[in-house]
Parts: sequence; structure tokens; C-alpha cells
Amino acid sequence: MNFATRLNNVETSAIRELFKLLGKPGIISFAGGFPDSAMFDVEGLKEAANKALTEEPGGALQYGATEGYEPLRTQLAAFMQSKGVKDIEPQGLIVTTGSQQALDLLGKTMISPGDKVIVEAPTFLATIQCFRLYGAELITAPVDANGVQTDKLEQLIAEHKPKFVYLIPTFGNPSGAMLSRERRMKVLEMAVKHQTLIVEDDPYGDLYFGEPPPPSILALSSQVPGSREWIAHCGSMSKVLSPGLRVGWLIGPPELLAKATMCKQFSDAHTSTFAQATAAQYLKSGRMPATLAKVRKVYAERAQAMGAALKKELGDAIEFTQPQGGLFFWARLTGAGGKLKDAGEFAKRAIEKGVAFVPGAPFYANDPDLSTLRLSFATADVAKIEEGVGRLGKALAGPQVE
Ligand code: PMP
Repeated sequence: MNFATRLNNVETSAIRELFKLLGKPGIISFAGGFPDSAMFDVEGLKEAANKALTEEPGGALQYGATEGYEPLRTQLAAFMQSKGVKDIEPQGLIVTTGSQQALDLLGKTMISPGDKVIVEAPTFLATIQCFRLYGAELITAPVDANGVQTDKLEQLIAEHKPKFVYLIPTFGNPSGAMLSRERRMKVLEMAVKHQTLIVEDDPYGDLYFGEPPPPSILALSSQVPGSREWIAHCGSMSKVLSPGLRVGWLIGPPELLAKATMCKQFSDAHTSTFAQATAAQYLKSGRMPATLAKVRKVYAERAQAMGAALKKELGDAIEFTQPQGGLFFWARLTGAGGKLKDAGEFAKRAIEKGVAFVPGAPFYANDPDLSTLRLSFATADVAKIEEGVGRLGKALAGPQVE
């Protein structure tokens, strides 16, 4: 078939191939990017869905406004206010079908073929694919344990004059890194200085294990005059409440929201009103703080267990920074003791031993680091994590090939 030329810019992800193997019985998977289904507040959501249908069936089941269901916009504005975004109003955000759609709308509204966009190395795979589908040339900025390296980022902005910069500053997927407050302030200053749009993708910021992370770049924009008009922010209910609801949101300058709304209208008309009304009732019910506390506690225990097990079973053959939140460990095979350095080969051996993870290479838009890997600790309990990491140790201890 004669498909559109834009499809030439993307290919089916290598990760999908790996996922086909996950059906093997007995596999312990650290591969997914999913939250744990056991964390879903089913009772709370049942109540919320029920209320949505009884109190406002017209709103919950009828077509709705493209910008979003008003009671949900009101609740989301209050949720963002509680996270330090003081001046946000319901009209200052639009509801999207997951934050994935917010990213797609940013691509659709901002990227013409050949435009440059700066992303982190590594970054969220679906964003790489989505921006490439619109013909973006992706430029990569390096990341360390404190998030994107802002001095390098500023050089890249000055050199490439990108359409925008895409960052996942808090517990990024896959890096797990947290951008320091100091660097957040620098990002805001460079947004103003270079008049560059910064897209902050923040689906994991609420999943912290100890101290809360610094406020979002959006929240901090109130401290840097003139910066707010250069910030777009994507939020999501997926990792804290339920990804199946497909409720996300986009905050940004009014003219950007107007164009994104127009594009959304031609795409899905609006996000499911039933899902929106359910999410609105859920936020209104006041159950969210308890749900967040529970989810944080469980994931913190799992992250702790995975860090300890990796140290015990893989020792100096692997290096990583213990994540302070989110769902992921980002690690690098060191090759110490003549052990494997190639994470792709390691993934194949690991599957043979009954454990899965994702090699890091596909998360790089350019110049992949083949020694990297992503391990999710979200869906396996502590016993499974220990068993799975034990299997990783066995897979890495196997016969070596160079
Ligand atoms: N951004 C990042 C960084 C993600 O990891 C994900 C989900 N894995 C998304 C956006 C999309 O999430 P959703 O569409 O479910 O809100």
C-alpha cells in the first residue's frame, strides 16, 4: 500500500518485539512501563463512576466540549494549585486523552518537517516516535543523576534554535533522574533568554518516596518574570489513578491551547466524557491524598528492594543511581570482571532465565548507549523482585562472549 511519507520517519519499536516474549509462562517482568493494577482504588473509582452517572448522566454520556468537561477542569486546576501552580484557572488547561495525546498535539501544532526539537538522552520512546512522525529532527541533550545538564542544554539551544525543548524533569522515563531545583531555575531563565518553548512532561512527579521533589518547572515559573509564556506542561492521571481512564491535561500559553484544541477537535472531538466525569468525581471525593500515600509507600518499598538486590546479585557489573521516585531504575552494565556490556544480549539471556527488562538503546533519539537498561519495579512484589534480580545475576554470570 502507498502509505504517507511521514511513516518513513518511524519504525515499530524494538521493545514491542521483546514484549512478544513476555507471554512465556513464569516470566518475571521488569519490562513494562505500567503501574501495578493492584494499586488501583477500585472502590473509589466505582463510587466516582456511579456518582458521575447518577448526578450528571447528561454530562457523562453526551458529547462534550473539546477543551474538556468543566467540572474536571475545575478539579484539575485545584489539583495543580495544590502542587504549587498558584495562578492556574480551569480555562488555563485542556483535558487530553492521556498525556500521550498532549504530546501528539504539541507535535501537531508546533513541528513542521525539518524543525529541530531538543530531547533528553535518554527520553520517553513514544515521544521520540511521535515527534519524528511530524518530521522533527531530534537533537539530544545529556542527562546525569540531576537531570538534563543545563550548561550543555543552553549551548544546544543557542546553536540549534529548536522549536521547543522536551523534558521529563521529575523521575523521568527511562532515566529515573530528578532535575535539581537549581537546574529548573536555569531552564526557566534560558526559556526567557532564548525565547524557547519548554515542554515539561510530568506523569511521575507525584510518585516520590521520601522528600517531595522540587516544584515543577511550571510552578517555579512564577519566580522568573516572563517565563510562564514559554512553558507547556503535560499532566496525567495514569500513574497515580488509572492509565485506562486515559485522562491527561495540557497547560500552556493561551494561543498554544487554542491551536491544540483545534487539532484535538479534528482528532477525537473530546476525551471520553464518562472518563472525565469519573475522574472529576474521584478528585472531588477527596480520596486522592490517601491513594497517593499508599502508592508512594508500596513503590518505595519495591525500589528499595530492587536497589539492594541489584547490588547483591550484580555487584560492580552494574551501576545505577537509586531512584527517589517514579517507576524505573536506569542502569549501565560496566563490563567489570569481563562480564557482558551489551544490554541487548543481556536481555536475551535474561529471558532464557525467566526475567525480562528493556535494553536502553531505543530510548536514545541519537547515538544509543548499548550498555544501558531500564528496569521497572512497579508491578512485581518484593519477593518477585528478589527472585527476578537473582535470575538477572545468573543470566549475567553465564558464559561470556566478547
Ligand atoms: N510521558 C511519559 C514520560 C510517560 O512515561 C508516559 C507513559 N508511559 C506518558 C507520557 C503517557 O502517559 P499517558 O498517556 O497514559 O498519560
